[in-house]
Amino acid sequence: MNTAKEIRQRFLDFFESKGHTVVPSAPMVVKNDPTLMFTNAGMNQFKDIFLGNSAPKTKRATDSQKCLRVSGKHNDLEAVGHDGRHHTMFEMLGNWSFGDYFKEEAISWAWELLTEVYKIDKSKLYATVFEGSAEDGTEMDSEALEAWKKHLPEDHILYGNKHDNFWEMGDTGPCGPSSEIHIDLRTDEEIAKVPGRDMVNTDNDQVIEIWNLVFMQYNRKADGSLEPLPAKNIDTGMGFERLCMVLQGKTSNYDTDIFSGMIAEIERLSGHEYHESAKTEVAMRVIADHIRAIAFSIADGQLPSNVKAGYVIRRILRRAVRYGYTFLGFEEPFLCALVPQLIKDMGEAYPELEKQRKLIESVIREEELSFLRTLDRGIRMMDDYMAKNADTKSIPGVDAFILYDTYGFPIDLTSLIAAENGYTVDMDSFNVELQKQKERARNATANEFGDWTIYVEGEEEEFLGYDNLELSGVRLLKSRVVKQKNKTMIQLVFDKTPFYAEMGGQVGDTGVAVSASGEEIHILNTVKENNLTVHIAERVPEDCEGEFILKVDGERRLKIAANHTATHLLDNALRQVLGTHVEQKGSFVGPDYFRFDFSHFAKVTDEELRKVEHIVNSMIRNDFHLEEKRDATMDEALGMGAIALFGEKYGDKVRVVKFGPSIELCGGTHASSTGRIGFFKIVSESAIAAGVRRIEALTGEAAENLLDTVSDTLKGIREMFNNVPDVTAAITKMLSENTDARKKLEEYAKAKAAEFAKKLADNSEKINGINIATFNRDTDPAMFREAAAMLQKEVTNFALAAAYEHDGKPQLLLMYSADLVAAGHNASVDIKEAAKLIQGGGGGQPFLATAGGRNTVALKEALDKLVEIATR
Ligand code: ATP
Ligand code: MG
Repeated sequence: MNTAKEIRQRFLDFFESKGHTVVPSAPMVVKNDPTLMFTNAGMNQFKDIFLGNSAPKTKRATDSQKCLRVSGKHNDLEAVGHDGRHHTMFEMLGNWSFGDYFKEEAISWAWELLTEVYKIDKSKLYATVFEGSAEDGTEMDSEALEAWKKHLPEDHILYGNKHDNFWEMGDTGPCGPSSEIHIDLRTDEEIAKVPGRDMVNTDNDQVIEIWNLVFMQYNRKADGSLEPLPAKNIDTGMGFERLCMVLQGKTSNYDTDIFSGMIAEIERLSGHEYHESAKTEVAMRVIADHIRAIAFSIADGQLPSNVKAGYVIRRILRRAVRYGYTFLGFEEPFLCALVPQLIKDMGEAYPELEKQRKLIESVIREEELSFLRTLDRGIRMMDDYMAKNADTKSIPGVDAFILYDTYGFPIDLTSLIAAENGYTVDMDSFNVELQKQKERARNATANEFGDWTIYVEGEEEEFLGYDNLELSGVRLLKSRVVKQKNKTMIQLVFDKTPFYAEMGGQVGDTGVAVSASGEEIHILNTVKENNLTVHIAERVPEDCEGEFILKVDGERRLKIAANHTATHLLDNALRQVLGTHVEQKGSFVGPDYFRFDFSHFAKVTDEELRKVEHIVNSMIRNDFHLEEKRDATMDEALGMGAIALFGEKYGDKVRVVKFGPSIELCGGTHASSTGRIGFFKIVSESAIAAGVRRIEALTGEAAENLLDTVSDTLKGIREMFNNVPDVTAAITKMLSENTDARKKLEEYAKAKAAEFAKKLADNSEKINGINIATFNRDTDPAMFREAAAMLQKEVTNFALAAAYEHDGKPQLLLMYSADLVAAGHNASVDIKEAAKLIQGGGGGQPFLATAGGRNTVALKEALDKLVEIATR
């Protein structure tokens, strides 16, 4: 049998035999590219070669590339599970020519591989050819047509328009006609009814595209026009899972040996059978597919989160959980339990899965748990929405959108629950909300790129910033205008530069470019775009032709470098203290502080943190000098003991950065020796995801400033305690004295109130058969109120009426004993009547009420009124 492994190997061997270099897959998660979150085609890793920004290292390359199509231009997410041929994550087999062979060879080798190596029945194959476009002024691709005619009868060649057969990388950039190879897998009976050529591109699971050959020969400019590329390229991509399905004689990718183990495991865990119903089939496919995308992303360093790439992963995970929950009865985390099977299937080819098993499992488990809670809450919210709309039996789109957007509740689930209860969802208004949100997102990120203005042709740009903060004799190669929202920025590219472009967590350099005429252009940031170092400037220099001097803001750079070096020392110290499972999961290195994320499964204790600080500071005092090897091969680097990260893209030559015991692969800028860091201090330690911790820390002056603040505060406190040597003991003593004093004060106040109550009772007189006490001297209202409440509990047939002035304001109080309240007296009502006289108001309870006012002159009158009311 053709196993998947053999099929992949045969592809690579074939192209190697045709002079291609086999290259490794690039990471699936793309870092340092503002235009792309995930690799979605084999050509991504060669983008800068096609754009002419880097020279190819070889003219022919071949590989199997991990791809993910869940966002942006290629988004197959909704199809996954419903058909048998679209995945979120899949492998794309490819072969490339960089300015070397072109259409003739690309087509005949594809044909040879499919029909002679893989022995696919020729009569099942179809090819499409670009028919030309009047709009672009391009003609039919007769070169490709002639090449195909050598292999295929004419009725197996179809013509496609710009939409189907013209491939573009983006709005601008390299592009060209393409030629797709399709295969008809239907039974002879079906073929007899409808010929294959009528079935191509009709979204049928048995007549499918397997390979796309792209012939890159144009560059699309910002004004929409095409210009021929100086070097023509070949870029091909064949779906590996689809090829396996063809060669293993299956009708769906999920029936191949790539997925069959996983489907069986899902059957076992759920107790359902794959072919039990259409719903279980879809659900198991979704889960078998998504677990790969999720686990590989985490291994590549992308954790689920609320933003960007992390959010995409979170959505894929939630989609899988949702299908399992609704159709397979999984109410507890189950995706994490599929990781061992995934490792069994793919662990040999991708060792990073086994190495990070614990992290992958715990991150997935935590996400599942939190989403299951969300599901629960969403289902309860649905109950509310249905109750609210019982008359119309329609859930408004805004509500469905809140569920979707705020609670991550998939719209199809909302519809499903609605339908189960005889409700519908107003999809039109939901879509309006969705559209609005998309618009908001687009406006926030949309960039408009102008064409490059070229000043000097073709010289390679070079980073010289490891050794220089200032460079003269620099030539400006090109510039362009980029508009984002209302902001306009200028991008400048030089032939060489001391500016470090934002990468690997380290922020980009700032500084100035001085033109030959002395004009100073501020460089606001430096970033990488398609392997170009792009300097973001406020304006285009007046003199672009002359030589420039580039100056990096040196003070800022030194701080950044110290922080970067400190991350290495921190990494090393963490591994010493916590264990070698600690792996870097991300970092931010700026001039003012840095943070370092790493895998670890428990809170780092204060003691451990202190130990880490001591180790780092002792490495600083050791003043280890930077030992770097700029052009090491990967083998040399690993031989030196360097730590490489999964999910990072490393070139053929890597840079090894060594400070004493710390050895890392790193492209960042560093302090010349650890002593330059000065001092290191951790500010915080926290969790950012299951199994991932974050440390924030300061170095040098920033750490010094922090300690200054801390010691100033301490000094201030000491002074308050007359500079006693042991201030902690003094504070502890004060706190306990304070508690005692407070207790005494409370007791004293109570005693005083009791005494006061007794005095009031003793001074009562009888009017109309009721004992009444009056009071009209200044006193503390709170104490008075407490005394009245105490008294109230002890007396019968008793009323207390008071009108007095406190802090210049008139105050009233009225109290009735319980038996008087029972007989119909109500202090809260009665006091209001008297309060009018002092131009105020008040209230309380039937047995005790107070009032305040503005008119002190009427106090005597108010007291008489209270007595009159109480005794009437
Ligand atoms: P389709 O029309 O089937 O979605 P496509 O035109 O999007 O394919 P290309 O972008 O040309 O495909 O990608 C090259 C090859 O990669 C395709 O011929 C196909 O074999 C495979 N492929 C594309 N998308 C997927 C996917 N989502 N899952 C698996 N394989 C895919
Ligand atoms: Mg597609």
